[in-house]
Order: sequence, then C-alpha cells, then structure tokens
Amino acid sequence: MQQHSHFDVLVVGGSYAGLSAAMALGRSLRKVLIVDSGLPCNRQTPHSHNFLTQDGVPPAQIAALALKQVLRYNSVEHLRDRVVTVSQQDKGFSATTAEGRRMSAGRVLFATGVKDIMPATPGFAECWGISALHCPYCHGYEVRNRKTGILANGETAYELCRLLQHWTDQLTLFTDGPAAMSEEQRAMTGALNIPIVEKNIEELQQQAGRISAIRFKDGSCEDLEVLYARVPFEQHCPIPAQIGCAMTEQGHIEVDFLQKATVEGVFAAGDNTTPFRTVSLAVSGGTVAGAAINKELIEEELAGKTGA
Ligand SMILES: Cc1cc2nc3c(=O)[nH]c(=O)nc-3n(C[C@H](O)[C@H](O)[C@H](O)COP(=O)(O)OP(=O)(O)OC[C@H]3O[C@@H](n4cnc5c(N)ncnc54)[C@H](O)[C@@H]3O)c2cc1C
Repeated sequence: MQQHSHFDVLVVGGSYAGLSAAMALGRSLRKVLIVDSGLPCNRQTPHSHNFLTQDGVPPAQIAALALKQVLRYNSVEHLRDRVVTVSQQDKGFSATTAEGRRMSAGRVLFATGVKDIMPATPGFAECWGISALHCPYCHGYEVRNRKTGILANGETAYELCRLLQHWTDQLTLFTDGPAAMSEEQRAMTGALNIPIVEKNIEELQQQAGRISAIRFKDGSCEDLEVLYARVPFEQHCPIPAQIGCAMTEQGHIEVDFLQKATVEGVFAAGDNTTPFRTVSLAVSGGTVAGAAINKELIEEELAGKTGA
C-alpha cells in the first residue's frame, strides 16, 4: 500500500464481519482496505461450532479461508495493523494506523468486535473458550452431561440455571459470595437439583486451559470439567464512540437495519453491534453492511453524474 491512498471503503477489523463485508464490496467492484490487528475474541477456542459448513473447524482456519477468498477480488487490500484514529473530512474520512500509515476513504465500516474482560480469579483467563464457556449454542453439545459449574449471581445466575440444565443434569451454581437470589429462584434451582455454593473462590485449577477443580478461599475444592460464565465486555475499538457514534445502554454501537451507525458515512457490523455473538451473525451483519455501503456510494455517484 502507498503511504497515503484513497479507498472507497475502509474496513476496520478483518475477522468474520469485516471479511464478509469486504467480500460483498469486492464483488461490487469497490476499492477496499481492510486493516486488522489480528485479535478476534474467539482466538483461544480450539474449535468453532454452529456455523454451517465450518462446524468444528478451528476459528483461525475459518478466517484464513475467508481472507483467501476475499483477496481474490483485486480491488481489496489487507493490512495487519491497528487503526488508531479516524476523522471526518470534507468528503469522507481520513485514518492513521499504529505503524504510521495514513489513508482516506468515502465510508468506514467498524467490524472491530468486543473485548471480554476476564474476572481476576486466577486460572479463569487461561480457560476462556476452552473449558470456561460463554455460550451453550457454541460449545454446549461437546460438553453435554459433564460436571458443569455456573459462575454467576443474581438474575444472570437464575437465567443460566434455567438454560443450562437442558444440556446437563450435573450442574452447580457458584456465586463467589452470598447468593443474590429470591426465595422463589432458590426454590427453582433446588427443584432442578442445582446446588448453590456461596463460598468465595480462590482459583480455578487447570492445565492448558482445561479446568479440573475450583478451589475456595477456605481451602476446600470441588471437581469440575466445565464452567459457564457471562463476563463483562468493552468495545475492542474506542474510535466509534470517540467520533460520536451513539452507543446502546448495553455498550453496543447503535445501528439501523442496514448496519448504519448514527454518524453519516459510518457503518458497524458484528459483535460490536449485538449481544448475539456468533460467527454466523457476524458474517450476516457484514454482508448487509457491504451491500448497504455499496448502495449508498452508487446513489452518491449517480447524484454526481445526473444531479438527481
Ligand atoms: C471464547 C469464545 C468462543 C466462541 N465460540 C464460538 C463458536 O464456537 N461458534 C460461534 O458461532 N461463535 C463463537 N463465538 C462468538 C464469535 O467468536 C464472535 O461472534 C465473532 O468472532 C464476531 O466476529 P467479529 O468479526 O464481529 O469480531 P471478532 O471476531 O472479535 O474480530 C474483531 C477484529 O477486529 C480487530 N480490531 C479491533 N480493533 C481494531 C482496530 N482499531 N484496528 C484494526 N483492527 C481492529 C480485532 O483484532 C479482530 O481481529 C465465540 C466467542 C468467544 C469469546
């Protein structure tokens, strides 16, 4: 890439959502630059599930095949770098990267995903995506009927108990301190034979991300093969909020049904816009964004040619 080039579209983030948009845009003869810093949220997971044709395939393999197919379109370029600034210009946007590259584009798509914030519990981060799981639809089948824990409290804990008892009847709820649950909720977990352990957790015992037990601050231990948790998240890329894109209460970039953000010319797709985190939905959001951006550019070009 030349030091300062102009593109129809800058795609920030080149995982499933970004690559999917780039494919739609490449097939629409658009000059596209994908800049990707290479840190997708599922990078620690050995196998990705629940995406047609790629069930059980390592996540990086899905992305590598997608990139290979996208780069068959000659008007699409790819950079391994991180976008650090995006600013609005007269007609479009200019951007810079961590490695000092500069570029401009008519439209920007943020397909930047989210960052999961790991609890401080030693061992948890190592297990994330391997034996500490976020979603039964992605991984529940593989660990069905195993000795499973839920690390949660309050409403979330109650919801997860109701959901996960479908995949295993060997469930224990760990609240890491006093359980904030109503009498009714306690009665329901009791009726489902889900014990509630309120002891404070010291660490997850694990090897290479495979959990074997939870150790508590009182020195006691409980054997475990799988742990589900809902961890907090933040936007992986702060730029959309910095340039004025409205965010939802939950912390996602607000988009309309065409993946258009609230700042003119800015689009977003994938995990950064939705709580439904799956590869298939990220791909779907990217496809919609790619088509919507192309349509907007066509309208702009037609107005330039015909004045209408
Ligand atoms: C542990 C775990 C396991 C999962 N397992 C499954 C599964 O089995 N099946 C399934 O369907 N889904 C699974 N998911 C969900 C799935 O991984 C996500 O829905 C999907 O990765 C979202 O794709 P995305 O493109 O929106 O974001 P991501 O895949 O997170 O990619 C975002 C990309 O943007 C890049 N980026 C961010 N900021 C910048 C910047 N400023 N400049 C350049 N690049 C930037 C990042 O480096 C990253 O490459 C899992 C998620 C987790 C956390």
